[in-house]
Order: sequence, then structure tokens, then C-alpha cells
Amino acid sequence: MSKKIWIVLQQRDGKIHKMAWEAVRAGQILAAEVGGTAEAVLLGSGLEEAASEVGQCSLAAVHVADDANLAEYTPGRFVRTLEAAINAAQPAYVLFPHTYQTVDFLGRLAQSLDAALVPEVVAFETVDGSVEWQRPILGGKMFAKVRAKGSGPVLVSLQSGAYSADEVEKGSAPIESLNLDYADMAADREILGVEEAAGGEVDLSQAPVIVSVGRGLGDEEKMPIMQDLADALGAELGASRPVIDSGWLPRDRQIGSSGQTVTPKLYVAAGISGAIQHLVGMKGSQVIVAINKDASAPIFNVADYGIVGDLHEVVPAVTAALKEASGD
Ligand SMILES: Cc1cc2nc3c(=O)[nH]c(=O)nc-3n(C[C@H](O)[C@H](O)[C@H](O)COP(=O)(O)OP(=O)(O)OC[C@H]3O[C@@H](n4cnc5c(N)ncnc54)[C@H](O)[C@@H]3O)c2cc1C
Repeated sequence: MSKKIWIVLQQRDGKIHKMAWEAVRAGQILAAEVGGTAEAVLLGSGLEEAASEVGQCSLAAVHVADDANLAEYTPGRFVRTLEAAINAAQPAYVLFPHTYQTVDFLGRLAQSLDAALVPEVVAFETVDGSVEWQRPILGGKMFAKVRAKGSGPVLVSLQSGAYSADEVEKGSAPIESLNLDYADMAADREILGVEEAAGGEVDLSQAPVIVSVGRGLGDEEKMPIMQDLADALGAELGASRPVIDSGWLPRDRQIGSSGQTVTPKLYVAAGISGAIQHLVGMKGSQVIVAINKDASAPIFNVADYGIVGDLHEVVPAVTAALKEASGD
């Protein structure tokens, strides 16, 4: 088996996804560890500029599937294209950023290739000549070390923030066309249009203090206790994704891998479990205070101060103490 490492980069309108650069760095490290070559793969239409940008990285090649049929993402076309390309080139490992798009098609691709799939990887190392992948399990409470079995390619998705895009090694890579028959790649959906999510009004990355609300709040009607605490601290409200998905707060308040990345002086997380996708957006905060009724919640692993208790009791008590201390 070759030690070719492919990194499939996500792009939109020629702009490479932030997490794809992180995957490039992971691919470079993996290539060095296993003594292989790291090669990027781009799918889409009108990719000249994107390909030449990727070509400025230290990679053995940039493979490009550039065709009008791939202009919009559809899982059917992407799976068929990648299946044909991987079967032809036989890479040993294929890395992907763990984005919504990747999650949408990676299971199907693994099944069609009969390949091992290791999703949501946060670290890896070589042990006795084989690669051990680390990934969170049980909602991030534990980490599993996984080795892939079998002889086929190993498909891996890399969690946001696991590797640094800033550390991608620069170089010069040849750009090569994948030359596949794209007309054969059946689309399984019709894209009627693409709508951008409304731009955020709040820039949480500039907030010095953030009070962040999790699903543990239980009910939108309880939000005033969190607003009271935020007011007492002069803080902005932030939230985990379920809070946003439930419509309790607007989308521009989401913190995490698919929301904002924040580094305030003080971050208060109430009723937030500490899933990796949330942690990557707030773990750079200077002081983290976690309030959670479950003493084994992963958020306590990154917290400087932890309060184990029911937030419905703890939060109003903290607010009252703050008001008393400030003479309000
Ligand atoms: C591709 C992808 C991207 C994602 N992006 C993001 C992202 O950007 N941001 C994000 O946050 N998540 C994101 N997620 C979701 C993430 O995996 C978690 O599901 C989410 O962070 C969990 O939110 P939570 O901690 O509020 O809820 P839960 O995991 O349900 O945790 C609720 C916590 O509240 C505690 N609790 C319950 N009741 C109380 C109480 N009365 N008092 C105190 N504590 C209580 C519980 O013990 C528990 O720990 C993403 C997932 C995927 C797959």
C-alpha cells in the first residue's frame, strides 16, 4: 500500500474553508510521521485561483476536479467523483475537515469504497508502525484511540481547531487535473438556490466578558436569569448551538466551531456540557467559570472555576451576590 495522503479541501466560490487549511497541516504532519507524501484535492468549478493558492503549500501535488457539474455541492456527485479518484490513485489515507458538508457525504463515501472511517479526529500518532487516531466519545467525556483495520484507504475527518492553519508549511506543488468523466457522476439533488445566513450584528470576539447559555437552561422562558447575570457582569450573552437551533437566541450569539471564536477575559458557561465543537470556540478565554449540575461534564476540564449545581439556583444567587457587592 502506498503512503499517499490525500487531503480533500472544502471550498466555496473558490474560497478555501478555514478548517481545510487545518486539514492541510494535519496531512503534512501525517506525511512526515508515516514517511509518505501529502497531496491536496479540490472539487468544484472555476478553481484556477484556489488551486494556485493551495499550490503554494508544501505538498507533493494539488489534484483538481474542475467541472461545471461540480459547481454546486451535491453529495451524489461528490461521492462518485471522489470514489473514482480514490480508486484510481489508491491513497493510504484521505483526510477531510469535519464540516457539515463532510458529515453529509463521508459515510456514503466510506460505504461505497468499503473503507474504514474515523470521524472527528483531534490528534494522531504512529505506534508500532500504525496510526492511532484519537477522537472524542460519549459527548466528549472520554477520548478513544482507534486503529483502522483492513487494507483499503482510511477516511479521516479532522475536528476544528485540532491542527493549526497558521502552521501550514509553505512550498510549491504541481497542479494536476483529475481527468474524470464528470457527466457520469449522477447528481442526486437539484440545487434551487443558495442563501447566505444573515450577517451577525454582534461581534463577540471583541467582548471582554461573556455569559454563555447552554441547553441545560431547559426553557427559553428562563432566559431572563441569564440576561440578569450578563447585566450584572456587564457581559454579552453567548450560547451553545442547541440554544441557537431552538431559537432562544439569534445565530450571531453562537460560539464554537460553526459559530464565533472568542477569547474574553471572563467566560461563564452555564448548562453547557463542553462538547469539542463548543470548546474550540472558547477555550482561549483567560478565565473560564463553568456551572453544571453534572460534576463529570467535560466543560470542567477547561474551567478555572467550577460550580457543580443547578443553574436555576446558582445563577440568581451569583447575580444577587454581584449586585450586593456593587451596592445595587
Ligand atoms: C459539525 C458540527 C458543528 C457544531 N458546531 C457547534 C458550535 O459551533 N457550537 C456548539 O456549541 N456546538 C456545536 N455543535 C454541537 C455540539 O456537538 C454539542 O451538541 C453542543 O455543543 C451541546 O450543547 P450544550 O452543551 O448546550 O448541550 P448538552 O450537550 O445537551 O449539555 C447540556 C448540559 O447542561 C447540563 N445541565 C442540564 N440541566 C442543568 C441544570 N439545571 N443546571 C446546570 N446544568 C445543567 C447537563 O449536565 C449538560 O452537561 C456542532 C456539532 C457538529 C456535528
